[in-house]
Amino acid sequence: MARTKFVAGNWKMNTDKASAVRLAQHVAAGLPAGIEVGIAPPFVYLDAVAQAIASSAVLLGAQDAYFEKNGAFTGEISVEMLKDLNVKFVLTGHSERRHVLGESSAVIEKKAHAIYAAGLTLVHCVGEKLEQRDAGQTFSIVQQQLEELSDSMQDPQRLVIAYEPVWAIGTGRNATDAQAQEVHAYIRSAMAKLWNPDFADRVRIQYGGSMKPENAKGLLGQPDVDGGLIGGASLKAESFLAIAKAGV
Ligand code: PEP
Repeated sequence: MARTKFVAGNWKMNTDKASAVRLAQHVAAGLPAGIEVGIAPPFVYLDAVAQAIASSAVLLGAQDAYFEKNGAFTGEISVEMLKDLNVKFVLTGHSERRHVLGESSAVIEKKAHAIYAAGLTLVHCVGEKLEQRDAGQTFSIVQQQLEELSDSMQDPQRLVIAYEPVWAIGTGRNATDAQAQEVHAYIRSAMAKLWNPDFADRVRIQYGGSMKPENAKGLLGQPDVDGGLIGGASLKAESFLAIAKAGV
């Protein structure tokens, strides 16, 4: 089935307010047709970026959300607060949250369910470390991380999987087209078993990990690669838009 590709920029802990607004304006001004594009700025700039892209089709995303609705959770941001700012998609399971910030699978599962249940699009990141790939564990790791989701998530438009091999994130070493396709095909077949084949066929699976204009065409041309989650290259409108255009 034809899936509309989705390219999202994860700005991580970068930009300041003025550069965030400028970057968002440039992305909105250069948006190609025929592909969905989103940007996930730091929490504190969401409101300013929301205003900068208000009259465009750029989707606003958040890099994280807490699973409780409100209450005594110092420093946390709820899904309801994000909805209030017009956020449309939220990431879970990013490798930096799993492996740098020590977020457990149990917490990721709760966050994923809260985001989906609130009606937002969930971009759930999965991916193996280099030693896991070398030990032949890529599929089993990805499978475990997919099982943080559940078949109560029934709308394939609101679930996106981002396959991000940890060894490719921010390293300049991307997966080859064939490596990406192999794992994406595995993810789709695993989802066909966890949900059903029709659902799996409709879910977008993004690739993430050192995607840049030079490798985007090949990666986005794979049959099971339905977009990209872009870190470093999303911090410049020119490279981010070039990646988006490569997916059209
Ligand atoms: C990411 O952090 O999601 C990512 C893919 O980063 P980069 O593009 O910089 O590898």
